[in-house]
Amino acid sequence: MAYRIPHALSPAAEPLDLGAGSNEPEPRPGSGGTRRAAAPPRRTRVSGLHLTAGAVVEAGRLLWWTAYYTMRWGLDRVSRSGGPDPRLRLATLLRGYLLRMGPLYMKAGQVLGTQSGLLSAEAAEEFRSFFAGLPPMSEPALRRTVDRGLPVPVAEAFASFAWQPVAVGSVAQVHRGVLADGTDVAVKIVKSGVRQRLEASTRALGTFLAAVHALCPPLRPYDLPGHFAELRPLLVGQCDMRQEAARQNEVARNFRGHPFLHVPRTYDHLCTDDVLVMEYVDGVPGMDPGQAGHPGPDLARRLQDVFYSMVFFHGRFHVDPHPGNILFRPGGQIVLLDFGLVGTLSVDDKWNLSSFYYACIRGQWQTATERFVRTFVANPERLVPHHEEYAEKLAAILRHHFQVQTSRWSTMEFFDDATRLLHGYGARASTRFSLLSLSLLTGEGFVTQTDPDINLYDNARRFTDLFSPYMSEAVREKFEHEIGGLSPRSMAARRDAAGYLVAPTHLDRYGLPSAFPLVITKATGAHIHDLDGNEYVDLSCGYGPHILGYAHPGTSRAIQEAVTRGSVNALGNPAELRLAELIAEAFGTGTKVILGNSGTEAVQMALRMARAYTGRQRVAKFEGHYHGFSDQSLVSSLFRYSGDAQSPNPVANSAGMQRTVVDETLVLQYGDPASLDRIAAHAGTLACVILEPMPVTTAAFDRSFLQQLQEVCARENILVIYDEVITGFRVRYGGAQHLADVTPDLTCLGKIIGGGLPCGAVAGRPDVIDIARTTGDPYLDIDTRAFVGGTMSGNSVTAAAGAAVLAHLKSHPGIYDELQRKTEWLAQELTTHAATSAIPCNVAAAHSIFSITFDHATPLLIRDRLAGSNFKANLALSYYMRKHGIYVPELHTMMLSAAHTAEDLQHVSRAFAHSIEEMKDDGFFTTY
Ligand code: PMP
Repeated sequence: MAYRIPHALSPAAEPLDLGAGSNEPEPRPGSGGTRRAAAPPRRTRVSGLHLTAGAVVEAGRLLWWTAYYTMRWGLDRVSRSGGPDPRLRLATLLRGYLLRMGPLYMKAGQVLGTQSGLLSAEAAEEFRSFFAGLPPMSEPALRRTVDRGLPVPVAEAFASFAWQPVAVGSVAQVHRGVLADGTDVAVKIVKSGVRQRLEASTRALGTFLAAVHALCPPLRPYDLPGHFAELRPLLVGQCDMRQEAARQNEVARNFRGHPFLHVPRTYDHLCTDDVLVMEYVDGVPGMDPGQAGHPGPDLARRLQDVFYSMVFFHGRFHVDPHPGNILFRPGGQIVLLDFGLVGTLSVDDKWNLSSFYYACIRGQWQTATERFVRTFVANPERLVPHHEEYAEKLAAILRHHFQVQTSRWSTMEFFDDATRLLHGYGARASTRFSLLSLSLLTGEGFVTQTDPDINLYDNARRFTDLFSPYMSEAVREKFEHEIGGLSPRSMAARRDAAGYLVAPTHLDRYGLPSAFPLVITKATGAHIHDLDGNEYVDLSCGYGPHILGYAHPGTSRAIQEAVTRGSVNALGNPAELRLAELIAEAFGTGTKVILGNSGTEAVQMALRMARAYTGRQRVAKFEGHYHGFSDQSLVSSLFRYSGDAQSPNPVANSAGMQRTVVDETLVLQYGDPASLDRIAAHAGTLACVILEPMPVTTAAFDRSFLQQLQEVCARENILVIYDEVITGFRVRYGGAQHLADVTPDLTCLGKIIGGGLPCGAVAGRPDVIDIARTTGDPYLDIDTRAFVGGTMSGNSVTAAAGAAVLAHLKSHPGIYDELQRKTEWLAQELTTHAATSAIPCNVAAAHSIFSITFDHATPLLIRDRLAGSNFKANLALSYYMRKHGIYVPELHTMMLSAAHTAEDLQHVSRAFAHSIEEMKDDGFFTTY
């Protein structure tokens, strides 16, 4: 039995007037074939505020029942003589009051039902009936609603339908049914009259709050009407089953493949405004975790993990995670139900929230204080005059909750203390964070009911530890000993160098520095040797250039000869001509080339040329695509994203970036047709669109999207620039464009074309590249030509190395097939090992490029891949693999070269199998 209606509140016990009769719902347009259009609500003017007739009735009801129950409470206090506990009597009265007041107020009852810590057990029990045991609508009203609400007659939709509900909530009731094909379904039906009552009572409450705001100056800092205005659409939106089905599907997608959380699938062809038909899932109601047949502590920890995943990863959280909305199944499976109220955190909120928590966990109180204001405060300007005093008091609150009293952790108490402080300065928390605190209040209450001994803070720490980039103390110690012990000289060299060198790509890697960077003394083929005499099979290929392996004989010879003849730069040399010729030829007849010194430089050159060529200023790029470290390239690039997924806001990924450049960048989503519309909408100002045609994080390309992008841009005279700095000459002779069979206007190259020495190039349409060719007239050049040269561009040594590599690749086309075969083999091995060890792992691999994410889901967007992925596992994998003699670049894409032998790959495969088993034992993938 999945749901149960507690006897004390079975329908007969307390019939509730939900508006049958005068309040009977008017049919609404568009929600069923035979509906009449709704009559516009009558409006009344009360004290300067517009109220509908329904809201006036609700306001009357509010006043009447509030007065009535206050009086009963007063009488009860006066006549108190023995009998049940007074707090229990108050709870009974309050329950009656909330029931009378209707669906809006019943939510409060549901929250109270989870608060056994706050209320006595009996008092909390009073409110537990709000979870699923509220009065249903009358049978005639039910029949009318079902008749009207379904897109087809009941008999057509279902082979059988039970008119007796299995659960009744504040807004809807749930029935069982069987579809024509024999599928068991749960049918959620909005109770008749509820929509009107929610509309009216939220309007009445809004008016009441506006009046209180106007009449009570001390309450104004709380901005109750403002908060409520933001909440109202959410509350009223609970009655729209079509929207709810969409929310349910979104949450289901976020948890797809999750080891213990299930969201029932919906049958959308039967869903309408009033009816939601979904898969019927049997289970033990959340109210009875004892019946779940799984240890309570595990269930409680799992629940907390689920709630935290929704908040921190998905940014779509259940506002109402009370026991009535959750089922337990054998094996500790959890089923999440009822997506009437789902809160949203934007990608910026998530970033701010995580950065705030991490500062707290690391005891950085000043940083945490600044992040708290950025994250939670709706009107931070109010705090400015009292900044120091406020910061000190907030730091004390943070210290108290995050350091002193962790064994009694309560998010709600923390929010409470912090918001009280805010109010003292006339500031307030933003509404979405009030919603978040409501969700956590309910969720943590439920978790504690499931296991009264749970230490919420410890479990939260375990969760954040698992997904934070920082290693826990225990793991750090282990690594110090095991990995640090392997490479003491590299470690010492790094320590010494810190006094005179900053190396952001390796020794001091930006953002997430390596705990154990290596100092390499020798590299040959697919092997590298460090200062300590360790030898590793290398999976970095130096971030890409070494497709033939390190110290490839042909390349080394070319470099030696070039150096012996004298390194020539800032003068023409034959090697430069040869390299340009090889590149031009690889990209098709007529292609012209311009040489530079790095991938970053190639991109900078291409963007400048595009602006000069089109006479337009703005650049469009794709979220998560990396194009080097120039200002424009680092917009929404590696780690940090902002705004809606379909129309992201540009955001700097480094300090010191020029704000005007950031603001002038249009950020798009790869593969999303909306991006094409946005390009067209900005056509008048866009010089170019730059992208990784085959983003390395996914190791895949979307041919049809690339073709459409080409069409839109050609139509609007916008240049398309492919950044093939990694993929160029790696995935095929030429680049990903040859695999996809799409030709851009310009292609940026780097890495491989320098044969292991610094190099970059732009290849492409001759008329565009010619924008960098002098006119012979300095005055004209300055107005019409792009200047993009450098001292070392086309130098003889780099060019000789690059030309040697390209010539070798050209004459050995089998290398690419061989690389693809090796990639497929290794990807399959890694996937199989992960499956055998039952760890959540995705391997994205193609044409020698590998990317591993430790996540149960396979998100499409780069921003989502980063959100739910276990970063720390990536970092740790690198160290575990090192113990087995493999060098995996931490967080960077892995790559194979022609020098990797079958034996090397078998070594990698075995090392991976051992590493993930060890990581599993060390708790890196702990899921309860
Ligand atoms: N574009 C892409 C796609 C890259 O991967 C990189 C570097 N990894 C760059 C540009 C920048 O190249 P470089 O590091 O040589 O400046």
